[in-house]
Amino acid sequence: MTELKVSKLDQNKWGCPRCGWPLFREDDMGDGGVTCHSCKAWVPLPDEDPPVKYRVINFSHPLIQESLTKLEELSGKEVDVVTIKVHVDTEKPLAEQVKVLAEEAEEKMPFYDGIVPPGLSSAAVPLFALLDKPDVVVVNKVAGSLPPKHVVSEIISFREE
Ligand SMILES: [Zn+2]
Repeated sequence: MTELKVSKLDQNKWGCPRCGWPLFREDDMGDGGVTCHSCKAWVPLPDEDPPVKYRVINFSHPLIQESLTKLEELSGKEVDVVTIKVHVDTEKPLAEQVKVLAEEAEEKMPFYDGIVPPGLSSAAVPLFALLDKPDVVVVNKVAGSLPPKHVVSEIISFREE
């Protein structure tokens, strides 16, 4: 069996060896493999899934190591983060800018668990609405820190278990 790699699009799934698309175990009809949704190749699936990661889209400042460690602690998983640079021009309509941000994010990480919202609340709220009910990863200033240090403090989840 060829060595499967984790899909770049979804760190929690094996990727199709031909096109990289995530493979879904639910598609296994009992023949030990699945058909890729993208290129239609049939791929044998190993019994084990890749280690599950907590996937975060960060729309804020890059997370410091302390935040990543805290995120692993809070989620109980390894963490995978993509950071999207946010430059909101408040002189221009926000709706279009937020849509572009959401599209960029879902292109870089189509499957995600949570987001670190952008600082500007009038951008953060519509962005949240456009995305697929992500957890909100709260990053707070550490009290009394100088220079100010921002660390992940909480994960707020809206998913029904
Ligand atoms: Zn494929």
